[in-house]
Amino acid sequence: CGIVGYIGRRPAQAIVTEGLKRLEYRGYDSFGVATLDTVITITKKSGRISDAGGSLAGLKGSIGIGHTRWATHGEPNDRNAHPHLDCAERIAVVHNGIIENYAELRRELTERGHTFRSETDTEVIAHLVEERYDGDLLATLEEIIPLLSGSFAILLLAEGEDRIVAARMASPLVIGIGDRELLAASDVTPLIENTRRVIYLEDGDSVELTRNGYRIRNGGMPVEREITEVDWDI
Ligand code: GLU
Repeated sequence: CGIVGYIGRRPAQAIVTEGLKRLEYRGYDSFGVATLDTVITITKKSGRISDAGGSLAGLKGSIGIGHTRWATHGEPNDRNAHPHLDCAERIAVVHNGIIENYAELRRELTERGHTFRSETDTEVIAHLVEERYDGDLLATLEEIIPLLSGSFAILLLAEGEDRIVAARMASPLVIGIGDRELLAASDVTPLIENTRRVIYLEDGDSVELTRNGYRIRNGGMPVEREITEVDWDI
């Protein structure tokens, strides 16, 4: 029930892993991290990230997303741990919350030829993005949001895309604005060791994070959100 994303110039794996440890209080039955270099590499497991040892060490790249899970759909095991991938393994997603209409979406996607690897509600997101992706990851995410009912904070990566895209609906999501690096997380605790400047996203917001900045939209239109300076320590 906690997500972290990082895009910048430093190795993403270490920053995402540290961030997930800060979020472990939100859910701790499984964890996983995906990084993007030229390809997406994933490590995910049941158990606590604080017991991960060196298992995350091989993940290369300066773009990454991670998840610490509190299972709602699908038992806690390695396969159901996030991130989840599309069929072609070129899109990775982490998700907090519940996709209430996932059974119907999964049935439709299966009929259209998609093969599922997990029992989670989350995996439908990766397949829906795969089906519609046409080179604009933010627009694709915005297109599938109206198909999802329930609550979600989502982070997405795609091969060939130097960005993280994200969206929220009834689940918290905060952006951290650093010096030529950006982060996203379920709450500020993983952000403030990297930056004090944060934006609390609102329901229906979607956002694109690149190394050069961010853009936030709501209902397909650009929106401005206030930057908050966090002045407390953990
Ligand atoms: N519903 C998703 C799952 O069961 C996400 C749960 C969470 O927020 O950790 O995998």
